[in-house]
Amino acid sequence: MELSKKPFDPQTLLLYGDQEPSESAIAPPLYQSVPFAAESADDFAAMSQEPLPSRAYRRSGNPTQRRLETLVAGLEGAEAALATASGMGAITTTVLALVPPGGHVVSQRSSYGGTLTLLRNLAPRLGIETTFVDQTETAAFEAALTSSTRLIMLETPSNPLLRLTDLAGVAEVARSRGIPTVVDNTVATPLDQRPLSLGADLVVHSVTKALSGHSDVLAGIVIGSSKLIERIWQTHVIVGAVVSPFDAWLAVRGLRTLGMRVEWQDRLALHIAGHLQSHPAVATVNYPGLESHPQHELARRQMRGYGSLLSFELEGGYAQAQRFIDSLRLPARSSSLGGTQSLVAQPATMWGKSMSEEQLDEAGVRPGLVRLAVGLDSEKDLVGDITTALDACVAR
Ligand code: PLP
Repeated sequence: MELSKKPFDPQTLLLYGDQEPSESAIAPPLYQSVPFAAESADDFAAMSQEPLPSRAYRRSGNPTQRRLETLVAGLEGAEAALATASGMGAITTTVLALVPPGGHVVSQRSSYGGTLTLLRNLAPRLGIETTFVDQTETAAFEAALTSSTRLIMLETPSNPLLRLTDLAGVAEVARSRGIPTVVDNTVATPLDQRPLSLGADLVVHSVTKALSGHSDVLAGIVIGSSKLIERIWQTHVIVGAVVSPFDAWLAVRGLRTLGMRVEWQDRLALHIAGHLQSHPAVATVNYPGLESHPQHELARRQMRGYGSLLSFELEGGYAQAQRFIDSLRLPARSSSLGGTQSLVAQPATMWGKSMSEEQLDEAGVRPGLVRLAVGLDSEKDLVGDITTALDACVAR
């Protein structure tokens, strides 16, 4: 169904946006097959010449994967999408597709650790250099551009510091220089923020997080114009970071309830952020929905809700953060976000294996930082659990 071309609500797109007109099954079929047969020798020849995504072989496309792509492209208001094996699969493939050897990338200093490690450690081996800038200064992006810049890599709100990038501002600079911008929209979700409508060229998601929503899928996706996605596809079939059909199927199933999950999680996260801010054991809270967030006005301009992720520092630093985490009964001590259960983690410990102390410091990740990914918990029970754990910190 071509619902994305009509002014339907995102909730309608989530339920009906991927349905085939002739289909009677309410739950979509799961195509596990790797090769697909042609109808005749002529059709086989035609299939082999088809532009991507081809019908012929799963590495270049699969009908179940296509449903995920159709749904998320519709949500982001885009022509096309390419689902991948993970969020990092989407990011890595996009960088490799758009930046040639000798090319230059401008990226934010505060980003997901995997993206930073790709740009710091792996990309230079392919002759790709990156300049890292403070995302809160739009002029810093412009100042970092060189004649070799081929990509601007953004993430807003950024994980784990919840800093914002002025998407319209950076996109305007990029467009005037003909440089594509890629926005990691994982933390916001397409329901809270639509970067393409603000002028960005591509959006990436870790589908592993809120889009699939149940902590049982590893997948990613890149979304944009048919022309750019086709170009990324050419690299994708060689890199081979292909999503499994079962993960794509689970992601489609999870997406049906994205609207309700985002609404619940955003409300709960805002409530918890306010609660943390008023507790004496807490030194700082990072959440764009708080009026005290230095970029709250920008958040109001470019976001519809403020997301399920927040981070904070306790008065007692690293040791106190550990005490707090160990005193919690409900959130699991784990590293993801956007799932049904709340998850708590210390980013410095989580990323310490792939980033040095200096790199963590440069990304603003202090040892005592605690990240809370709010789930679908009962407000009373989760707030009660957090309060008990914070009170235990004050008492010691
Ligand atoms: N982008 C962001 C903002 C993330 O938080 C993550 C994972 O935590 C990724 C990308 C990578 O996603 P994946 O784990 O699906 O590769």
